[in-house]
Amino acid sequence: MTGDKGLILLIEDEPQMRRFLRVTLQSHGYRLSEAASGQEGLAEAAVRNPDVVLLDLGLPDMDGIDVTRNLREWSEVPVIVISAREQEEDKIRALDAGADDYLTKPFGAGELLARIRVAIRHREIQQTGQREPVFVLGDLRIDFSSRIVSLRGKELHLTPIEYRLLAVLARNAGKVITHTHLLKEVWGPVYSDQTQYLRVYMTQLRRKIETDPARPKYLLNEPGVGYRLRIDTDQGR
Ligand code: CA
Repeated sequence: MTGDKGLILLIEDEPQMRRFLRVTLQSHGYRLSEAASGQEGLAEAAVRNPDVVLLDLGLPDMDGIDVTRNLREWSEVPVIVISAREQEEDKIRALDAGADDYLTKPFGAGELLARIRVAIRHREIQQTGQREPVFVLGDLRIDFSSRIVSLRGKELHLTPIEYRLLAVLARNAGKVITHTHLLKEVWGPVYSDQTQYLRVYMTQLRRKIETDPARPKYLLNEPGVGYRLRIDTDQGR
């Protein structure tokens, strides 16, 4: 283990929140770059080339969603949005604009560090440029080339929709995928507000994959936002 785990750019205007994040991240081996406004944050991102951006949605000069959109025009850096409870709608818009994940205030250090680890791992997978033909997570195995999904070595019979839903989540394992994004990917753009489709198919999929569908181990619900396929057991929940 090296001492340097990466550079985190923190775009947040609240001094107390910045202090908490600074202390937590530095004590866990991350380097830090800080900005108190959206403009300053974008400038820092361009100059410092961070490994992860932590972005507060409520900034004094511009909307966090616009910061995300601007960043996405020229950078693939993972963006983890930090939102307050009342910014639920904005959080979803930020995810649809290209943010990778979110944390809702107040959150603990464990959850923050887990999200950063997942974001950095994704970034590394992206940069190697190779998509693995087989996805393995615990007892679950997905072979993307043959479209065969198996659980504890036994092949599962999934409908085409169930398979596509699982494949989108597995391709983005660990990341929260919004309802709108899933509906567009699986059913097409016309269906982007038909969240009841998702609920029905997610229930079916859970019955086939989960040991206890009421307490899912793989297919996690992000209430009001979307779904996430768990990537490991230490996501702080
Ligand atoms: Ca703020």
